[in-house]
Amino acid sequence: MHADIDTVRNIIEKAKKEGRIYLNEIESKKIVAAYNIPVVKVDVARDVDEAIEKAKEIGFPVVLKIFSPDILHKSDVGGVKVNLKNEEELRKAYEEIMNNVKSRVPNARIEGVVVQEFAPDGLEVIIGGLFDQFFGPVIMFGLGGIWVELLKDVTFRLAPIDEREADEMIKEIKGYKLLTGYRGAEPVDIEEIKKALVNVGKLLYENQEIKELDLNPIMTYRNGIKVVDARIILKGE
Ligand code: ADP
Ligand code: MG
Repeated sequence: MHADIDTVRNIIEKAKKEGRIYLNEIESKKIVAAYNIPVVKVDVARDVDEAIEKAKEIGFPVVLKIFSPDILHKSDVGGVKVNLKNEEELRKAYEEIMNNVKSRVPNARIEGVVVQEFAPDGLEVIIGGLFDQFFGPVIMFGLGGIWVELLKDVTFRLAPIDEREADEMIKEIKGYKLLTGYRGAEPVDIEEIKKALVNVGKLLYENQEIKELDLNPIMTYRNGIKVVDARIILKGE
């Protein structure tokens, strides 16, 4: 299937026109979804009542995240609340997020909250991208959490990549065994991770204004995967 190129071009052109290099979570996820990479359902709400409305449309449980052009690392400032099962939990989470953010980043412009589908816990993986001034678009793969933070267990290729290269990337990380079901744990959907890698490679290659891309984390399951956080940064002028 073809990526919805118009969607992607429109988002990038709009940001450029507005002099922005940071795409917001909604824009980043739309671009990722346009390349047929599975993403959680998302919407934006300007106040708590609208957040409840959107949560009902998406279906509980949901996740709330601060929506601000000035906050890149949302959980660092108490800006993420997951697995909200009903209206009451959502109201409480909304208030907590707003209080956290106002006390920790008092000058941040707050545009509302992102309401999204809650993806159940899975093994977290990361797909990243960057534009290297000598090599061009580069794709990265690794396991999430401490695997990337502490052990730097990641691997890189020049983009685009084909299925065979995607397969090599997956197999060459040190934590590969975790994906195949280590010590009785469930194996995850390696075929879907492979497809996502190929599609991200294509995304990076076809949109070389992208300087950085970060799908962190992607939840992986026995059947299927879901991107729960996406961040795209464009090159400056
Ligand atoms: P940031 O990276 O900006 O701090 P994230 O959007 O990655 O914020 O959220 C922080 C953590 O919350 C994620 O690493 C993930 O474990 C969890 N999370 C985020 N969104 C979802 C979601 N839609 N479903 C389930 N868990 C989520
Ligand atoms: Mg994240």
